[in-house]
Amino acid sequence: MRIDKLIEKNLNTSRKQMKRLFLTGQVVLDGEKIYEEKRNVDSQIHDIRVAGQRLETSENYWLLHKPQGYVTANHDQEHETVFELLDKKDQHPDLYAVGRLDRDTTGLLLLTTNGPLGFALLHPDRHVEKTYHVTVNEALTIQDQQAFLAGIEFIGGRVCKPANLQILETSPTKSTALLTISEGKFHQVKKMFLAQGKKVIALKRVSMGPLRLEQEEVGSYRALTLAELHALK
Ligand code: URA
Repeated sequence: MRIDKLIEKNLNTSRKQMKRLFLTGQVVLDGEKIYEEKRNVDSQIHDIRVAGQRLETSENYWLLHKPQGYVTANHDQEHETVFELLDKKDQHPDLYAVGRLDRDTTGLLLLTTNGPLGFALLHPDRHVEKTYHVTVNEALTIQDQQAFLAGIEFIGGRVCKPANLQILETSPTKSTALLTISEGKFHQVKKMFLAQGKKVIALKRVSMGPLRLEQEEVGSYRALTLAELHALK
């Protein structure tokens, strides 16, 4: 969050009072006076002091193991949303999902109230890698691997960035693989395999940047650790 907004919101200052705090050197970030009002900060990571007082806020960061059947949306008329998997006490009107997963996709989903962080992670220039465990209805071949590496072309001409396909098991009726991509186009993984003439029959996101799905039960969630938060920034 921007430090000026954080100060206004948490100390209930006027815009003018907030500006004066900066001008008079009363805003200290990790031990250093700062004068730049628009700096993005997170009080869970940075030590922020205003007029000598430590500023505390609580952004929320949840790592959810999404089950099938839930939509990645804040509201839906027909289906349950991923936010309904959170306990009432952990639900927050400003929570949103960083990168959506389809209703039938399972796996790692980051939910946060930290808008700028989510925006930065999704920004194409950041190239955050996402790895999916994919099951398809056919054999996977070295030609598939080469095509993913060269950049899959969608119907309509859009070309994907190179992606790494690691084949785990292959047979004529069912194969599994790990696919790592660094973009987030709509239904990207399913469309990439479709461009190779293969249908995805199960899809699970196992990692996103430094975040990994480990032993979390399907449908469960946990707060990010401080180490994960640091790695994300
Ligand atoms: N790609 C897809 O096709 N679906 C998802 O849910 C995520 C990535």
